[in-house]
Amino acid sequence: MTTTSKNDQLFERAQKTTPGGVNSPVRAFRSVGGTPRFITRAEGPYFWDADGKRYIDYIGSWGPAIVGHAHPTVVKAVQDAATRGLSFGAPTEGEIEMAEEIVRLVPSIEQVRLVSSGTEATMSALRLARGATGRDKIVKFEGCYHGHADSLLVKAGSGLLTFGNPTSAGVPEDFVKHTLVLDYNNVAQIEEAFANFGNEIACVIVEPVAGNMNLIKANEDFLKALRALCTKHGALLIFDEVMCGFRVALGGAQELYGIQPDLTALGKVIGGGLPVAAFGGSAALMSKMSPVGAVYQAGTLSGNPVAVAAGMTTLKLIQEPGFYAKLGATAKRLADGLTAAARDAHITFCADSVGGMFGLYFSVTPPNNYAEMMAGDRERFNVFFHAMLDEGVYFAPAAFEAGFVSAQHTDEVIDETIAAARRVFAKL
Ligand code: PLP
Repeated sequence: MTTTSKNDQLFERAQKTTPGGVNSPVRAFRSVGGTPRFITRAEGPYFWDADGKRYIDYIGSWGPAIVGHAHPTVVKAVQDAATRGLSFGAPTEGEIEMAEEIVRLVPSIEQVRLVSSGTEATMSALRLARGATGRDKIVKFEGCYHGHADSLLVKAGSGLLTFGNPTSAGVPEDFVKHTLVLDYNNVAQIEEAFANFGNEIACVIVEPVAGNMNLIKANEDFLKALRALCTKHGALLIFDEVMCGFRVALGGAQELYGIQPDLTALGKVIGGGLPVAAFGGSAALMSKMSPVGAVYQAGTLSGNPVAVAAGMTTLKLIQEPGFYAKLGATAKRLADGLTAAARDAHITFCADSVGGMFGLYFSVTPPNNYAEMMAGDRERFNVFFHAMLDEGVYFAPAAFEAGFVSAQHTDEVIDETIAAARRVFAKL
């Protein structure tokens, strides 16, 4: 290929040694088309690509960069930790501090186990739920993403209460035959599921604020019904707060909605950009984990000292007075500004936000479930995405993803984004 773009050259080179040129599929721009940007550095609300172009970054590493990129305090903590050694495979005091902090901040957690990815956190929480209840069946909701464990890569079966079909090659039907996939925000369906399989369901896993089918808020009635039905039937309620934890409020969605799950999965923000995730719940439930209990789980790099230093420092920074009020106001300023800009250009569009997360929808109202999200104008999103990219604004490269702001997205940065969107909407 004859191109002077370093991004193009890197993409071509990457595809020779890495499938699709990327190490996680959404980075490949398959949904929006074009060449992915290869990032060379990031600072505050910005990152720069291999051609030296600066972008206002609205993915923030898909959630972790809540205090802004390369925050000096976090970088210093990482540097200090690294000089003391990179990994020991033996316990450290830093892990205790991190566990104590999570227990203090997340309402339903009394004990927590640190892992290295959100996938591990949800996978282990499911194993614990099955181990604790002695049941096999699990319930998930269409459009919620919980990482890539086999039994979670599943879409709805052909009938309402039929069990799911794998969404990935390599996942045996047998592995998903215990997974029931229902519609998000649909109380009648979950009631019917419990009426049919109540004493076989180990757990219900849900993103209490969904961020993997664009941004969709759970209705309060829906989460209350999940809580009540799980309690009634002896099933466990798992909140997957890998994305919304420490993002929609300091205590996560469970604090926002005032609903206590039995188990919580965390990730992203708690690593501050390095690999830390966790799952936790009551001490009684967590005592079923190995080495005290019979549910096995382990990790060579779990509680890694450098990653924990980044996470712990981030958890301190987000507790500064007014942090979430400001973060929420920033995301709302963006959502409101974009909505107004689209309205002025007579474009069918709306936007919404919860805490530091936001959704952009090419539809009249925000969607309530996966099918409604899929009905949005994705072609128009793709044109919008690329035009904004040209303007130096990097939104998630797919209409199915939520966006994120950081504490470093000042009003000026937001207003610069809205001004760019006005130019783009005018041409759409
Ligand atoms: N759960 C949710 C809600 C997520 O958004 C993600 C990742 O985006 C995961 C789990 C998986 O986390 P990881 O990519 O760290 O494995």
